[in-house]
Parts: sequence; C-alpha cells; structure tokens
Amino acid sequence: MKDCIFCKIAKRETSAEVIYKDDKFIAFKDVNPKAPIHFLIIPKKHIPSVDHLKNRDKKLIGELFLVAQKIARKQGVAKSGYKLVFNVGKGGGQLINHLHLHLLGGWKTIKERDIPGMP
Ligand code: 5GP
Ligand code: ZN
Repeated sequence: MKDCIFCKIAKRETSAEVIYKDDKFIAFKDVNPKAPIHFLIIPKKHIPSVDHLKNRDKKLIGELFLVAQKIARKQGVAKSGYKLVFNVGKGGGQLINHLHLHLLGGWKTIKERDIPGMP
C-alpha cells in the first residue's frame, strides 16, 4: 500500500528499531513508547484494521498472537505479564491504518513486601 508508513517499515524503506521478523510479520519499537517496553507487531500484508479482517485472515491473526507470545518470552516480560492492545478505528484511537498489535510491559510489579504495613 503506497504511502502507508508501516508498509514502508515492513519493506525496510523506512527505518525502525526492528526486534523481530519472519516471512509474514515484523515487530519494532514504538517511536513514542507508552510503557517501558512497547513494541508494535504487524503483518507485512496491508490490512487497515481489525474491522477489515476477512475469513481468509484467520490463520494470519492466530499466528500474530503466537508471534506476540514469542516476543514477550524473548524480551523477558512473559513472566511479569504484559498487555496486548488493538486500537480499532478513529474512535478506538487508531492513528495508523495498518493493523498493528501493541505489546506493552516492563512496569514494576508490586510485591507484597513493598506494601506498607505488610510484614
Ligand atoms: P495507534 O494509535 O494507531 O494504535 O498506534 C500507532 C503507534 O505507532 C503509536 O503508538 C505511535 O507512537 C507509533 N508510530 C507512529 N509512527 C511511527 C513510526 O514511524 N515508527 C514507529 N516505530 N512507530 C510509530
Ligand atoms: Zn500498510
């Protein structure tokens, strides 16, 4: 898709801090991170949003979640936990119209012993 920034990143025509790639997906650091760890995982195929998914994309979307799981494990957030987010459409806060899964994590977890009054 011409003029799509994420297609350009997928084709390596625009630079990004790529942390994962395979034949169908590419993942890179969000340029304006909202968490200590913030990656965007995209299919190389241009699909505008979750709302544009078709039956034929079923397998691709399943694989996208397994890629997210693999990245979370590799980046050391699987144990502490993480968020996976799709913004969908303008009202859902989607700014880039190329389907992308946000992987956010790396926050400090609250341990019981850090809570005042706990032994
Ligand atoms: P959305 O709001 O569409 O769900 O999320 C788009 C995300 O893409 C935002 O978090 C934004 O910071 C990130 N972003 C926008 N343009 C670029 C870019 O050119 N490079 C990278 N690495 N991230 C981008
Ligand atoms: Zn695109």
